[in-house]
Formats: sequence, C-alpha cells, structure tokens
Amino acid sequence: MNVPFVSFGPMHQEIKKEILDKFHDLYQKDWYINGPEVESFEREFASYCGANYSVGCGNGLDALYLILRGYEIHEGDEVIVPSNTYIATALAVSYTGAKPVFVEPNIETYMINPELIEEKITEKTKAILVVHLYGQTADMDKINLIAKKYGLKVIEDAAQAHGAKYKGTRAGNLGDAAGFSFYPSKNLGALGDAGAVVTNDSELAAKVKALTNYGSDRKYHNIYKGINSRLDEVQAGFLRVKLSHLDQLNEQRKTIAEKYLTQIDQDQIIKPSIRDDSEPIWHIFAVRTTKRQDFQKYLKENGIGTVIHYPIAIHLQEAYKDLNIRKGQLPVAEQIADEEISLPLWYGMSDEEVSYVIEKVNAWKPNDL
Ligand SMILES: *Cc1c(COP(=O)(O)O)cnc(C)c1O
Repeated sequence: MNVPFVSFGPMHQEIKKEILDKFHDLYQKDWYINGPEVESFEREFASYCGANYSVGCGNGLDALYLILRGYEIHEGDEVIVPSNTYIATALAVSYTGAKPVFVEPNIETYMINPELIEEKITEKTKAILVVHLYGQTADMDKINLIAKKYGLKVIEDAAQAHGAKYKGTRAGNLGDAAGFSFYPSKNLGALGDAGAVVTNDSELAAKVKALTNYGSDRKYHNIYKGINSRLDEVQAGFLRVKLSHLDQLNEQRKTIAEKYLTQIDQDQIIKPSIRDDSEPIWHIFAVRTTKRQDFQKYLKENGIGTVIHYPIAIHLQEAYKDLNIRKGQLPVAEQIADEEISLPLWYGMSDEEVSYVIEKVNAWKPNDL
C-alpha cells in the first residue's frame, strides 16, 4: 500500500463543484482586488474565530509582520518567540528590525514553556509571539498573565491552528492579535498564497488594513509607509468555500489522530502530549524517535510518506548566524529538530490507510546502530 504524507485529492473532489462555480462567478465580475468577496471572507473568518475583526493579506508571514508593524515594534526592540517553530515566526520579527529572543518549549507538548519566559524579558521586550504549533494551542493563561505583568503584547502565530481551541475559545481570540496562513497545506488552505490578521483591537485592524495597501486609508492618501500584501477576490472566494467545510475537515483529522494516539504502541516512538485545556486541530501528527533516519527509511520502504518539521533549529540556520547562538545553547529545540518526524494525516485518508500506518509503525524493529 502507498500512503503519501499528504494528498489533497479527496477534499478537492468533494468541493470541486463549489470551487468551480465560485471561480465562474468571480471571473464574470471583473473585480479582483479589495472587493466584496474579501469583505465577506473577512467577516466570516473573524466570526469563525469568535473575534471582531479579520483583515486579509498576502500570506502568513506578512500577517505576523503586519501585526508587529501595527504595534510599532522596530529596531532596538525584542520579541519573545519559541525556539522550535517554522522560521517564518522569527523572520516576521527580523523584518521589523527587532530581535527574536528564543524561549525553549516543553518537549512533551512542543509548546513554548511559560516557566522560561520571564528570565528572557528585558527592558527592550515588547511582545510575546506564541506559536500554536502542529495545531495545538499554547499554554495561554500563563502567557497572558506574564504579558500583563510586563505590559507586553501577546501575538498568536496561528498559521497551524485554524479552529484549534484553548478552554473552549478558538485561536485568533487568545491574545491581542493573531496571524493566520492559508498556504495550501494548512487546515484552511487557499489554492495559492493567502493570510489574515485576526484581532479584537479595532485600531490595530484599521492600521493593518491600511498597511496591506501601501499604508493608504483612502485612495491616493497614504498615512503609513505600507506594503502591498492584499488578499485577492479569487482566493477569498475559494477560502469562503473551504471555511464552510473546515469543521468537518478538522473533525476527520481528529478521528485519525485519536486512532494514532490510542493504537500506536511502539516503545521507540514518543507520541505528542495534549494538555487537557487544549483541543488541537491536528495540523501535523508529530512523533519523536532517537532513531529517526532508520524509522523514516523503513516507512519509505513500506510506501509511507513522512516529513520532518523542522530539521534545523532556527538559531542554527545560516540566516541567523548573526545571533551568535551556538549549538547546545537551545538543547530542547535541537533535540526536537533531531528527533521529530510527522506521520501522514489528511482529510480523506481511508480507514485502511490509517490502519496500515499504525500496523507498520508498531511492527518496526530498529536496526541497532
Ligand atoms: C506556514 C507558517 C507560517 C507562514 O505562512 P506563509 O503563508 O507560508 O507565509 C508562519 N508560521 C508558521 C508556524 C507556519 O506554519
């Protein structure tokens, strides 16, 4: 049997007619930028998250950057970020001229460890940029409490958490503002690049809206040095179709994840831990093993696709050598980079495919190296 790491096939088959009808409709309208479709999507997505405002933009990296710009974070400032995340989280900080300051995660949940945040706060710290990594929410009450004590903004990187809940509240509504990505493989994905900022802060929403469009609040009137990072009508239309199916898509991912959690029984594999206060949307099913290379090769030989999220910790990337953080200084992030491997989990995976993955994982006998 062949089980790819991800396949869009079953989802795309199911929504094909709705997507093509939407495209047909928009193609005839001759209105491609900043029109009614974007407005409707923004309203619907804010409402889905339980927040007041959503502003569409070009991608998830821009969403985070625009929030930081909106809060006037700039050169000389510091922003706390987890040491184990996709590099875009840190890049958003770097683009403002501010410095990303890494805090290690809890290795069981992969979420930023709130106990380690305070020791990294300085006079220059302006915000805590948390990541709801792999689809689980960060430990928000503790983080919000620290932010309040030091007067910091809390920004959510919710690129992997569309619909994820913390104590019943959805990502996007757990801090001051949240950045979402709609990269095609995210739980809510466009058919191309797209992103959004979600917030209850009306001032920030208006500012971000202007920043996405050259800093213009009305035509040819520029109040900020903005960028061009707009969500377009066609992607907004596709996103509206997919948003109407999101809960159903997430529900099926949860069913698959629960099978993995209960049926994978392999003493060389550590499964992810989920806090009781968190309802993840299973963007990624991340396990760990000290014999990763052997495990990945074995699964490949058995037709099972895997991906490593992410093989090089950010502080060890060449792009960040200017931070002068040496190997060994962020050992938890490094351990996750060395041991993490993600199993296939996608909408439309059949029961047979899920059982096959479980069976093969359980049957693995690592070569003693
Ligand atoms: C995907 C992702 C981003 C960036 O989103 P893009 O739309 O690709 O720019 C940022 N942070 C995390 C955690 C992501 O997974």
